[in-house]
Amino acid sequence: DPRIHGIRTRIRVVPNFPQPGIMFQDITTLLLDPKAFKDTIDLFVERYKGKNISVVAGIEARGFIFGPPIALAIGAKFIPLRKPRKLPGEVISEKYILEYGSDCLEMHVGAVKPHERALVVDDLIATGGTLRAAMNLLERAGAEVIECACVIELPVLKGREQLNDKPLFVLVEYQ
Ligand code: 5GP
Repeated sequence: DPRIHGIRTRIRVVPNFPQPGIMFQDITTLLLDPKAFKDTIDLFVERYKGKNISVVAGIEARGFIFGPPIALAIGAKFIPLRKPRKLPGEVISEKYILEYGSDCLEMHVGAVKPHERALVVDDLIATGGTLRAAMNLLERAGAEVIECACVIELPVLKGREQLNDKPLFVLVEYQ
């Protein structure tokens, strides 16, 4: 798809952020280009429209940028999956391992009903731990995760293998 090239060129790679040795994929430069940002959302909407998806779950923080416009366009609700102690209601939590230490995602109890069809959205998959935790939350609540969607994949980190054979759709691979 010719739109992919425009999206790829608008993602800025920042060396040694937030730590030495990391090549940070910065999507804020993609957001500065309305055409590339719209193309990004359109590509996801074209894939998920008419698939009977009733839930889009976005992962804090950059899943909150891409998730809601997709949800609105396909007629689904949006659920924020947040870092600990941000959500005011009753939550379920999922811990996951990071390169250094661990982190946690939380979801409001009752946000999703059993057997709802869910899409998980984030900006980027690296090791896959974050998406795995998000899928676990939705599945613990009885939802069916149809697919995970990210703008960028870092394939060398093999995050896909953490997703228990759940399909992952990405627009751009960064080698
Ligand atoms: P994982 O759990 O797959 O190792 O890491 C993915 C999570 O870390 C995502 O929520 C993503 O936003 C964040 N992340 C890790 N590396 C980068 C990066 O280079 N750029 C951006 N934008 N996010 C990153």
